[in-house]
Amino acid sequence: MDIIKPIYTKVDPPEGYSAPGVFATTLDKVIGLARSNSIWPLPFATSCCGIEFMATMGAHYDLGRFGSERLSFSPRQADLLMVMGTIAKKMGPVVQQVYEQMAEPRWVIAVGACASSGGIFDTYSVLQGIDRIVPVDVYVPGCPPRPEQIIDGFMRIQDLVASEPLRRRYSQEYRELLIKYGILKEK
Ligand code: SF4
Repeated sequence: MDIIKPIYTKVDPPEGYSAPGVFATTLDKVIGLARSNSIWPLPFATSCCGIEFMATMGAHYDLGRFGSERLSFSPRQADLLMVMGTIAKKMGPVVQQVYEQMAEPRWVIAVGACASSGGIFDTYSVLQGIDRIVPVDVYVPGCPPRPEQIIDGFMRIQDLVASEPLRRRYSQEYRELLIKYGILKEK
């Protein structure tokens, strides 16, 4: 039986200067470290991939080991939107509204083939990937992906969160990205 060993090791410190009794680093790195180990996910689960996420949260895989046992069903207290399952075109505006209600900084994972590309449902009614309505940071392949893959995608998000410069969300590039998705209005 494959058993994932629990991770009880402490989190590695960010790069910096250390001497006896002294450690110096940048504010970006400290905030990135704190954020990446206390992500509050909002699970937007519509079908089978959501069941894999339930297994990911269960005792065997336990996403809580990454500081994320606190799921948020309120967008205002979430910083990671996890879209898992088939998204019908009618549901697209709802996903976008949930994203808009999340405070910055926010990240998005498309879990599974349906959320990433429409999956096997190449039909008139299914959105062919959530990146048509919201910017996606990480795609997790599979139909369905196993919990190990979801955890791997989550760890890629942690890498992004830990290394994101504080100024990114105020940059012109980010602003243009949101304008492209119709989330910000052009002035
Ligand atoms: S990717 Fe496969 S398992 Fe996941 S929601 Fe779509 S059909 Fe279901």
